[in-house]
Amino acid sequence: RTVYVNGLYLPEEEAKVSVFDRGFLMADGVYEVTSVLGGKLIDFAGHARRLARSLAELEMKNPLTEDELLAIHRELVARNDLVDGMIYLQITRGATDRDFLFPENAEPTVVLFTQSKPGLADNPTAKVGIKVISIPDIRWGRRDIKTVQLLYPSMGKMMARKAGADDAWMVEDGEVTEGTSNNAYIVKGGKIITRHLGNEILHGITRSAVLRFAREAQMEVEERPFTVDEAKAADEAFITSASAFVMPVVQIDGVSLGAGTPGPVALRLREIYLDEMRKAAV
Ligand code: PMP
Repeated sequence: RTVYVNGLYLPEEEAKVSVFDRGFLMADGVYEVTSVLGGKLIDFAGHARRLARSLAELEMKNPLTEDELLAIHRELVARNDLVDGMIYLQITRGATDRDFLFPENAEPTVVLFTQSKPGLADNPTAKVGIKVISIPDIRWGRRDIKTVQLLYPSMGKMMARKAGADDAWMVEDGEVTEGTSNNAYIVKGGKIITRHLGNEILHGITRSAVLRFAREAQMEVEERPFTVDEAKAADEAFITSASAFVMPVVQIDGVSLGAGTPGPVALRLREIYLDEMRKAAV
């Protein structure tokens, strides 16, 4: 595999990052994941915009223009013959002597790599749906910034696996915030309910597109928090993320939703999302 590190395209074995990198020492960095379908990037502009915002919120300089970033993404797709999969991008504040204060003159570390996932859009899991458990949301208060601090979400996925489930929905003050790596939705009486934007959740790029398509298709959308009990009583549920697209949820804490199979709203939105995004892919 060819990866990108600070301006160079290198075989993965030759790519190096300093042990003093603040991403490694302090999780002082941000990331993005963009899906690739048929060799093209899904919603690249959305990811580039959110990256710029994450960097700005952390007072980190943006080392690349959107055009440069797009060129690197495309070059990696080409060099790795990537058809279906994803591109991971990470920018950290760089390498300096260890210090809690932000360094004045560190150069950001930019890393990108590809991961091939043949048949990504035909994921058979979408036909059966996933099971989630609920866990307390004990993450920090700026979840709108896409930082590389993924330890708790990682622990959440492990808790889900140990409980025989696929993922965890995190709960704060009795309300669902989001999934470990995705935004969470329920459907009741045809209405799609998902938490409003704020510092409590990541502003999903897929969320934004899916809500737009839902409204265009005259589906009713309500952006507000919901509780786990409300979710358990819902007709259906689903999650969205750049790599899962729209994925039905069929069970919450062992309680089956509706018929216990993927719901019509989730399946329809998945189809619309994939159709529209493939058409707009770059
Ligand atoms: N919330 C969290 C916590 C996430 O990690 C992700 C995926 N990175 C999402 C939501 C979904 O965001 P997107 O649709 O941009 O992938």
